[in-house]
Amino acid sequence: MPLQVPRYLVPFHPKRIPHHFVDVLIVGGGIAGLRAAMQVDPRLSLLVITKDAMEESNSNYAQGGIAGVIDPADRFESHVADTLTAGANLCDQEVVEMVVREAPEHIRQLIAWGTHFDTENGELLLGREGGHSHHRIVHALGDATGHEVMRAMIQRTRSDLGAQIWPNTFTIDLLTHDDSCRGALVWNSAHGKTFVWAKQTILCTGGAGQIYRETTNPAVATGDGHAIAYRAGAELADMEFVQFHPTVLYIAGSSRSLITEAMRGEGGRLIDATGNRFMPDYDERAELAPRDIVSRAIVAQMQKTRQPNVFLDMSHLDADFVRKRFPGIARVCAEFGIDIATDPIPVRPGAHYMIGGVRVDQQGHTSLAALWAAGEASCSGLHGANRLASNSLLEGLVFGAHAGAGASAAALEAPDSFQAVPLENPAVGPPSEPLDLSDVRNSLKSLMWRAAGVWRDGPQLAEAAETIGRWCRYALARQFADPAGWELQNMLTVAGLIVDSARQRTESRGVHLRNDFPETDDAGWRRHLRVVRSGSTN
Ligand SMILES: Cc1cc2nc3c(=O)[nH]c(=O)nc-3n(C[C@H](O)[C@H](O)[C@H](O)COP(=O)(O)OP(=O)(O)OC[C@H]3O[C@@H](n4cnc5c(N)ncnc54)[C@H](O)[C@@H]3O)c2cc1C
Repeated sequence: MPLQVPRYLVPFHPKRIPHHFVDVLIVGGGIAGLRAAMQVDPRLSLLVITKDAMEESNSNYAQGGIAGVIDPADRFESHVADTLTAGANLCDQEVVEMVVREAPEHIRQLIAWGTHFDTENGELLLGREGGHSHHRIVHALGDATGHEVMRAMIQRTRSDLGAQIWPNTFTIDLLTHDDSCRGALVWNSAHGKTFVWAKQTILCTGGAGQIYRETTNPAVATGDGHAIAYRAGAELADMEFVQFHPTVLYIAGSSRSLITEAMRGEGGRLIDATGNRFMPDYDERAELAPRDIVSRAIVAQMQKTRQPNVFLDMSHLDADFVRKRFPGIARVCAEFGIDIATDPIPVRPGAHYMIGGVRVDQQGHTSLAALWAAGEASCSGLHGANRLASNSLLEGLVFGAHAGAGASAAALEAPDSFQAVPLENPAVGPPSEPLDLSDVRNSLKSLMWRAAGVWRDGPQLAEAAETIGRWCRYALARQFADPAGWELQNMLTVAGLIVDSARQRTESRGVHLRNDFPETDDAGWRRHLRVVRSGSTN
């Protein structure tokens, strides 16, 4: 049964709230949102909203790089084939072909906009990561690609676009009327709740890693866009597919920094506590097998050795090269007394990338009129059941550009109306018992890690669904006054959707692994699970 959620999280009345009118509203300022912004016609008014500082996004933390066929010896067919193989028979082949063919042009554009990718003798240096059969990953500042790409994109957005930018502004809900998106209800501490009426809205809110106890994602990644779109009645797809990054730094007290796949690409080996290199026992591609296989092998080896982690070993490689190629990771590890060139680095899997999301077509249009989506909040069919490394920044670029162009063209055709539609959401009475938000949040993160992590099974998922349903009944019935409450409500909603979809998919495919259904069932399950809020009245 579809998850029961209220249509709007907070009370409002059009006579008691400020109104703001724009042509195009973009929610999210990561790679997808800013790429969309660059496609909006300068004659249109454009507003970009981010819930934290502009610089705080998954995009900013991306390490390994962006995949694209750059080397003359590489082939589009090879990048397509690698993407399809990783996606475990669930990718949309047309989408894969489109994205792969557009990749080199997007990389060239980033360079033209001021991104400095790593080069040698004037040529782009190309890295290789798990699942890729060729060196085709452009990277910057060694292992800080996202930081460099976002620096250039933010600078261009601020200086060249003439866009209004509202940082530290939380989007609570999309506004819908007559089956169409009309903008969003947003909040910031300076002006409180505000209606932003937009002719076209683009949702680029990123991922949801924060619903898991172990994650590589920053604090902003709470799945807001997924939950907002679900409440608004847009269709979501593939919510059971959550990618776990195999190698996340595991040191008590440290942040869960991602140890990039590129370290394995450069020859890093995974060893267990006894020093045994175990990956060749699990897959002939060893450390360069796709992420789901490596994550699964690490969890199995942790169980076999009864250890809380395994190690990444770079000590057989040239020490100077290792420290220079991965300066960010070297710095973080050094703070905990680990020299990455000589010491084994303790790692284990963590939630990394949300494959499921708001379903979009090749133009980035969602099932809801006047609503577009791009990047990690969306589900385009590129990744299938498992994302190939370094294909997600690329997806943000390609679909950001498509959604931006589509929304821009549609907004240019629509006349100005400057009219608010009669939307109202009444207040519910204050609850008598206060709710300890961080208690529910931490409990949810632990539950998701246990029941909907790398390995899943029917009874645990059923128990998780019941528990989340119980928490939803009392947490979603309340109306909170600030982001901490709304984030929790969004996290509960997204967790409920993941668990429901994971229960339904009674097979193992890509990143979705069921102990009780270990085989892939193409006859029954080579299809997408779509979810839409029941009784959605827009
Ligand atoms: C540590 C790490 C390393 C990675 N390395 C790579 C890599 O090497 N290559 C690769 O291809 N991918 C990598 N990824 C994945 C990739 O970074 C993301 O998938 C991609 O950046 C997502 O971009 P996005 O624009 O969709 O979302 P994000 O970059 O996450 O941006 C989301 C935006 O939405 C805003 N937002 C969210 N909720 C709200 C709200 N309620 N109201 C207002 N604004 C909101 C945020 O403030 C933010 O501006 C990595 C991810 C992580 C975490």
